[in-house]
Amino acid sequence: MNVHIIRDSDVSKDLYHEVFGHLKESKGPLMFHTNENLIELNDSVVENNTLSKDDFHRKEKIPEYSIKYSLDCNYAYDFPYEREEFSPEALLTKCNNFRNNHDVGNNEFVILLTEKANTLNWFAFGDKNKNIFIHTSEWDFYLDCNRSFPIAYQVVSKILQVLLFKDITDFGAHAHIDETRGCVNDFCKNKIDVSLKMKTADVCKDCQSLIIERSFPNPIFNQITTVFEELRKKLISVERFTSRLRPGRVLFRGRIRKMILLDAGDYEVRLTPLEKTVYHLFIDNPEGIKANEIGNYRNQLSSLYRKFYNGTNIAQFENSINALSNYFDDSIQQKISRINAKLKSTVGENIAEYYIIKKDTADEKYKITIDRALISYKVSYK
Ligand SMILES: [Zn+2]
Repeated sequence: MNVHIIRDSDVSKDLYHEVFGHLKESKGPLMFHTNENLIELNDSVVENNTLSKDDFHRKEKIPEYSIKYSLDCNYAYDFPYEREEFSPEALLTKCNNFRNNHDVGNNEFVILLTEKANTLNWFAFGDKNKNIFIHTSEWDFYLDCNRSFPIAYQVVSKILQVLLFKDITDFGAHAHIDETRGCVNDFCKNKIDVSLKMKTADVCKDCQSLIIERSFPNPIFNQITTVFEELRKKLISVERFTSRLRPGRVLFRGRIRKMILLDAGDYEVRLTPLEKTVYHLFIDNPEGIKANEIGNYRNQLSSLYRKFYNGTNIAQFENSINALSNYFDDSIQQKISRINAKLKSTVGENIAEYYIIKKDTADEKYKITIDRALISYKVSYK
C-alpha cells in the first residue's frame, strides 16, 4: 500500500526528509514515498484567528475545560496569539488534487505535511478517501524534542485510524475523549497529553479488541506498532542525551561523514554538503578561525567540499567555495546559523554549546569547543 508524503512550500526540506527517514526503514505493506513537488496554499482561503492561551492548547472548542501546564512556555509565543488557519476541507482538497494530478490509486494514502494551522486546532486529520494532513509547526509547545518524531508518529497513527474507523463519528465513538490512556486513539483534547501517547507507544486493550474484531490487517498493524516502538526508543535516548551534563560521542560515518550522535541512540544530525564543509573546517581547526581570516582557508574548504559535493557543475562548485571563503559575503554566517539551529533542535540548548560553532569572545575566533577525543571517524559504505 503506497503512502505518498507531500509537503507545502513552508515545510523545510530537512524536516521533510527527517520525517521520511523515520518511516522508510520500517518493513511491511506500507511503502512510503517522497515527492519533490511543493504544494502551494496561497490560493486557499485563509482565516485569521487570534487565540487565547487556552484556545491554543485545546483541540476543537470544548467549553469549561481547564488546562494544566506541564511545560514551561518560555517560547516566542505571546498570547493572545495570532495565526493563519485553513479549513480542513481546504487542506484535504490539496491532497485530493495531488491524487488526481499524479494518478494515485484509491487504495493509496496522500499525506500533506503543512506548516499551516487548521481551524480544528488538531495535530492531524484524515478522511475516508485516505487523504490526511498533518500540522508540522508549534510542536515545541508539547514536546521537548525534534518535531520530526511526533510528525512521523502522526503519519502512522492517522493511517491506522483511517483504516480502522468507518468515519469521524465512528472515530468519536471509540477514541478516548475524556481520558488519556497513553493509547494511539487518545484524542488528547488537551494537546499536551500527546507526549504521553508517544512515550507509551501503546495500543490499549479495548483498541486491540476492536482491531481484531474488525479484522485489521495484521502486517500493517505490526508495521505501525514497530514504527511507534522505534520512535519511542529514539525519543527517549535523545531525551536522556539532552539532560546530560556532558557532551557525548560523535561518529562521522562513511566518506560523506554522516554525523551520528552515538550516545543519543545513534541519532543522525542531517547536514547538507555545504554545511558539512563548514562544520568540518571548524572540527579540523580546533584553535578557531577569525571571521576576517576565512579567505586563508579557501583550499581547505574546497578539499572538504569535494568530499561532500554530489553534483557535477564545476562553476556552481567554485561559486559556492568563493562565497564561503569571502569575508564580505554572508554565506558562511548563514551556514553557521543553520548548522547551530539544527544542533540546538536535536540536542537541546545546553548540550549544544559543545557542538555549535560560536565566537570565543576572548580571542574573537569561531570555534567548536567539543573535546576532540569524543570524535571518531569510520569509513564504510553505509
Ligand atoms: Zn485505546
